[in-house]
Amino acid sequence: MGMKFNTALLHRPPRPERPKENEPFGSTLTPIYQVSAFEHGSAEQLEKVFNNQAGGFAYSRIGNPTVDSFEKKMAYIEKGIGAVACSSGMAAVTAALLNVLESGDEIIAGAGLFGGTIDLFRDLEAFGIKTKFAEHITTEALGPLITDRTKAVFGEIIGNPALDVVDIRKVTNLLHSRNIPFIADCTTATPYLVNAFDLGADIIVHSSSKYINGGGNSISGVIIDNGSFHWDETRYRGFAEYKKYGKFAYLAKLRNGLWRNMGACLSPMNAFMNLVGMETLGLRMERLCSNALKLAQFLEKDGRVKVNYPALETSPYYPLVKQQFGGKGGAILTIRTGSKEKAFRLINRLQYAVNATNIGDVRTLVIHPSSTIYAHSDLPQREAAGVYDDLIRISIGIEDAEDIIADFKQAIDSMEE
Ligand SMILES: *Cc1c(COP(=O)(O)O)cnc(C)c1O
Repeated sequence: MGMKFNTALLHRPPRPERPKENEPFGSTLTPIYQVSAFEHGSAEQLEKVFNNQAGGFAYSRIGNPTVDSFEKKMAYIEKGIGAVACSSGMAAVTAALLNVLESGDEIIAGAGLFGGTIDLFRDLEAFGIKTKFAEHITTEALGPLITDRTKAVFGEIIGNPALDVVDIRKVTNLLHSRNIPFIADCTTATPYLVNAFDLGADIIVHSSSKYINGGGNSISGVIIDNGSFHWDETRYRGFAEYKKYGKFAYLAKLRNGLWRNMGACLSPMNAFMNLVGMETLGLRMERLCSNALKLAQFLEKDGRVKVNYPALETSPYYPLVKQQFGGKGGAILTIRTGSKEKAFRLINRLQYAVNATNIGDVRTLVIHPSSTIYAHSDLPQREAAGVYDDLIRISIGIEDAEDIIADFKQAIDSMEE
């Protein structure tokens, strides 16, 4: 029997904690294994666990049952063959890339990326890894940037905050003809809108601090692989010793190498918070997409600020949103107010919307990106990322749409005064 999205979020994969014969009870959630180390019955057994000859856990930086449950649920929901959880979204982005790159390699990335990721690409230059930015991740923009040294293309499926949408199928068709993997940051799209593997993505990363967790209570990230990309060891030299793992080569290399040794593991507590939060991902996204569209339509009709939301019929991405996301536009919209002063006044007058640097919470959040997240970027970088001095990013919440709309209406009224 096939399971739909919301059912699968609750019931897949099967929990190892279900009651077994002769046991008094199971538990409905994986408990929090809040321990650093795991005891084993004999030296022989621990030797086997350490050398991957037996299943089990030794030390929570390398593996932990609560974290393992979260990884398995993410892998299932994203249709991957496995997942590796990280201490933050940035740790996931970093490890996903460094697992395949070496000095001399080039990355091509979308210009409209999350600010932290743009900063990371600058940090990687010290290690001989260069990033070229494409205005948008399109076949037209990527074509001229590809060289023999291009080892990965990195893009956000819905750019945060530019809100440009990647045509995943079209882009991956081009990249695969050149033996280049597409690493998709699916944080803002979420598996509710699209499964990027279905359309050709090779590696998926999430800042699970956002929609996966859903309650704004834990920082975390996750990397998922579906095993489809062939990591030719003449181009990806580090893969020679992992060839024996077949389609698990990427995950085995990550787990046994950089990820483990970098030490950016996820805490069991935060994995638990994500497991609880994930169960309502479908419900929340349904409500968030509906609220975002209602607010966007109100603001467009009102006309006093300029609104950008990919599911508006006036958006250039509307046809792609219909085709790729079933018409849903995600939970972020941006508005332009005309000036920084007006943007600040609007933010300060909002009653419910919280002024904070996050997305994917249950409450509506707003921020002025150019004075905060993009404070380290220069003007051309900001504009390429779709960040302007008069722009406000709104991460919609699950409040009643009427209340959110009324809040923005009164704030815009007083912004104009
Ligand atoms: C927040 C975010 C990140 C970074 O994640 P953290 O959990 O804050 O480290 C990366 N990509 C996108 C699209 C994000 O929104």
